Amino acid sequence: MQASRKSAGTSAAAPAGRPAGVVVGGGISGLIAARDLALAGFDVTVLEAAEDFGGCVGTHRVAGLDLDSGAESYATRSPAVPKLLEELGLQERIASPDPSGAWLQLGGPDPAKAAQRMPQTGLLGIPADPRADEIAQAIGRTGVARAALDRVLPMAPLLRREKVSLGEIVRSRMGEAVLKRLVTPVVGGVYSADPDVLDADSVAPGLRKAMAEHGSLGAAVGAMRRAAPAGSTVASLRGGMGTLTSTLVENLRELGATLLAGTPATGIERSGTGFTVTTDAGTQTADALVVAADGPAAVDVLTPAVPDLAAVRPGPGPGVALGTLVGDNPELDAAGDGSPGCP
Ligand SMILES: Cc1cc2nc3c(=O)[nH]c(=O)nc-3n(C[C@H](O)[C@H](O)[C@H](O)COP(=O)(O)OP(=O)(O)OC[C@H]3O[C@@H](n4cnc5c(N)ncnc54)[C@H](O)[C@@H]3O)c2cc1C
Repeated sequence: MQASRKSAGTSAAAPAGRPAGVVVGGGISGLIAARDLALAGFDVTVLEAAEDFGGCVGTHRVAGLDLDSGAESYATRSPAVPKLLEELGLQERIASPDPSGAWLQLGGPDPAKAAQRMPQTGLLGIPADPRADEIAQAIGRTGVARAALDRVLPMAPLLRREKVSLGEIVRSRMGEAVLKRLVTPVVGGVYSADPDVLDADSVAPGLRKAMAEHGSLGAAVGAMRRAAPAGSTVASLRGGMGTLTSTLVENLRELGATLLAGTPATGIERSGTGFTVTTDAGTQTADALVVAADGPAAVDVLTPAVPDLAAVRPGPGPGVALGTLVGDNPELDAAGDGSPGCP
């Protein structure tokens, strides 16, 4: 998907009277930022390193089916995505997940017993009530007994610390079985990371405050679930989430933006009140600049303009390998499908 309205082969500046906006990175963040700039009257150029726009939100074709190749749903707790979908005319495509809920495939000698429904009232796999029947199947009676201590253990140290990982909270409140058999599979599926390296306040905002208010982790999860908007917490689009990025690209073209795929930014320098963005094909001048690349890439291109950033360059995120399995088994048709998690 390569589009160009004007060549990047030379120094490019915006037409007189319109400020120039340059966006580095054509994933969902960059495309939305580019749209905001275009709607605000900027002459926008999007520089994307890959040959396609969309970044982690895209589609791929397997067995004749067009399937999501990254994000497959969006959270509905904020009105931001529904509002965007309406503005782009995609509201008719919104699809809610099968209400039968998600399943977990846990390790164990008997595969039939290893597959089980996720608790309906959890948060990132943390159960509101660890004594529920489906929880006992997943973590055993000993695990349930340990998890029940959540109601009586003191929790002040967890609340006092400035930073605490989600793994630490779950392990100390409900024990290792809840962490490894319920939370780790779900969190791994969502964040491609172990709960021990994820900051609790980032991935579960409000959880520690709710723990302080309600006196236990389970009660906090229950309260947060009850306070969530009715219905599903995620939704998707018929045709896949890639429909969102391809529609954004079309919309940007209609707004007159210049979309340059296969054109990585290699450096950014300050020039006057704006910036000069360098690519292998030339330079772009920008009155407004948005860098919407991954952390290490963003630091690399911004370091010439902001040398201090080099000291805080983040490491690369966890590698993600995408595996897509297409099966045709009519016996599964009645079983419903949710979002499976695998430890
Ligand atoms: C397998 C998978 C499943 C996911 N599932 C979900 C989900 O269901 N729901 C959800 O909400 N989130 C999900 N996510 C997370 C979500 O997809 C990402 O948070 C989101 O897409 C990030 O968008 P972004 O634009 O910030 O970054 P990216 O998508 O990473 O886009 C950054 C872009 O910048 C480009 N770039 C990098 N360096 C340069 C450079 N020097 N010059 C120009 N361009 C550059 C890259 O090529 C890339 O296209 C999933 C992620 C993955 C990997």
